[in-house]
Amino acid sequence: MSPMPLESATPLVADTFGRPLRSLRLSVTDRCNLRCKYCMPEEEYAWLPRETLLTFEEMTTLTGYFTELGVDKVRLTGGEPLLRRDLPVLMRMLRQNPRIKDLALTTNGLLLAEHAQSFSDAGLHRLTVSLDTLRRDRFKVLTKRDGHERVLEGIDAAVRVGFKGLKLDTVAMRGFNDDELVTLIEYGKRIGAEVRFIEYMDVGGATDWSLDQVLSRAAMLEALGRHYGRIEPILEKSSAPAQRFALPDGTTFGIIPSTTTPFCSTCDRSRLTADGMWYLCLYAKHGTDLRQPLRAGASRDELKSRLRSVWQARRDRGAEERKELEQSGARENQLIGIERLREDPRLEMHTRGG
Ligand code: SAM
Ligand code: SF4
Ligand code: SF4
Repeated sequence: MSPMPLESATPLVADTFGRPLRSLRLSVTDRCNLRCKYCMPEEEYAWLPRETLLTFEEMTTLTGYFTELGVDKVRLTGGEPLLRRDLPVLMRMLRQNPRIKDLALTTNGLLLAEHAQSFSDAGLHRLTVSLDTLRRDRFKVLTKRDGHERVLEGIDAAVRVGFKGLKLDTVAMRGFNDDELVTLIEYGKRIGAEVRFIEYMDVGGATDWSLDQVLSRAAMLEALGRHYGRIEPILEKSSAPAQRFALPDGTTFGIIPSTTTPFCSTCDRSRLTADGMWYLCLYAKHGTDLRQPLRAGASRDELKSRLRSVWQARRDRGAEERKELEQSGARENQLIGIERLREDPRLEMHTRGG
């Protein structure tokens, strides 16, 4: 008998809203070499103890179980994933798994110039670099570090190496970089990368968040329309968070309207922290510890059955719930205070992976 094609052999697991388990964000470290004001503005955090960090073997094993339940997209993230040593080794290990159709990485780009070639050699499919500004002075204010040129060099290196579908992610903030939408798109056009504007979200360490700093999708489209003329939405059937648009000359860009127009109804994403806690939503306050059973010798079947039952019970729709709180003015009370974040570092965006 010839072997069954992988697709039909892969059972789909759906949550209570019928959303499949498909996309996994694998955080490889909670450390970061920047201090972005919207993510981890403090110098010190309660860092995950080193011995609790999953090894590459453990990550590969757990990811393997996820893929047997339907995951086919894996994104390496952090913290800053490039701070984890020997990342190409992990990439190669994951690339052994034929169920992973899309292996991607999100980075702040600071160390990318040194690593872009080795990532490509290791089989990384796609790369996203975060770039909020083209102005060095602003970068320094935003990140509390002086590294803008290195980020641009990292992006150049990624282009030279030939990463297809390079993306640049920009958190759009009113009063901060709202005057750079056009320059960022033009920069992306010049280097052959697609820019995606992310609405500022009230997650984890974004303790400085307020609704008036959110540059909405509508405001972005209006400003871009004023400059470029007619902007056409690109209709595509996808669970990807970005809505894509085309300018009159065909240049495309994306908007991720997480705050004003949440897309929880199609969300197939979950997150595994560097120490093995599995979160079903960016806003979830509780996760499932996978490290403990894995290290205690739980079998493949036991772990898979755990993953299946947790996902099947998933009811998370964090961004929609936050949106609903706006009516009563209660949204801004939901921010998690710095003391609580210190007690539980996994509530931070930089720990669970953006
Ligand atoms: N350090 C890497 C980086 O910055 O690309 C990867 C991890 S970072 C948490 C992943 C993404 O989350 C980045 O693109 C970052 O801009 C985004 N992010 C972090 N905090 C955010 C917030 N409050 N609102 C919107 N996006 C945010
Ligand atoms: Fe900035 Fe990414 Fe570091 Fe957060 S994890 S502080 S978004 S570079
Ligand atoms: Fe998915 Fe949660 Fe984000 Fe909604 S808020 S899109 S459920 S991760």
